[in-house]
Amino acid sequence: EEVRLKEILAPLIEQHKLKADKPVRISLQITPEELTVTADRTHLTNMLSNLLDNAVKYSLEHADIAVSCRLCQENEETYTEICVSDCGIGIARECLPHIFDKFYRVPTGNRHEVKGYGLGLFYVKTMIEKHGGTIRVTSEPGKGSRFILRLKKT
Ligand code: ATP
Ligand code: MG
Repeated sequence: EEVRLKEILAPLIEQHKLKADKPVRISLQITPEELTVTADRTHLTNMLSNLLDNAVKYSLEHADIAVSCRLCQENEETYTEICVSDCGIGIARECLPHIFDKFYRVPTGNRHEVKGYGLGLFYVKTMIEKHGGTIRVTSEPGKGSRFILRLKKT
């Protein structure tokens, strides 16, 4: 199914702003604006919802979150990249290899009294791989995290 990213992301961002327990800013940039991906609409929505949920949960007051989508070229293939970046608590380097594991939660996350089961990222990784895509993360404690979904353009 050919899904327009703006159609999914614009309402999803509004929802997350409304349900956030603190003031959050979420910006959206899609280049080109009509950018589409081939994916199951429901699963793609759930994946993005999980990433947004984390970006809000693991940020402190006045979370500043940026969602950006673009095309990129590598090894003669074209990909669509969806980036969710936050300026939140970040993830320690030694924890990064584990965050996509089922039930894994960074121990210090609990200090912020943030609830969760450690299932969100496991779901996202499983699902994006089912779509033939990948997920990558870069993060720095105290600075923030960036999750990048990549899907081959068909
Ligand atoms: P669930 O999503 O099941 O409600 P969860 O958010 O704890 O619970 P995941 O979404 O799988 O589980 O994330 C796993 C862990 O990775 C989190 O517990 C948290 O420690 C860390 N993490 C995930 N996203 C972020 C982020 N944006 N910033 C900082 N830490 C993060
Ligand atoms: Mg989560």
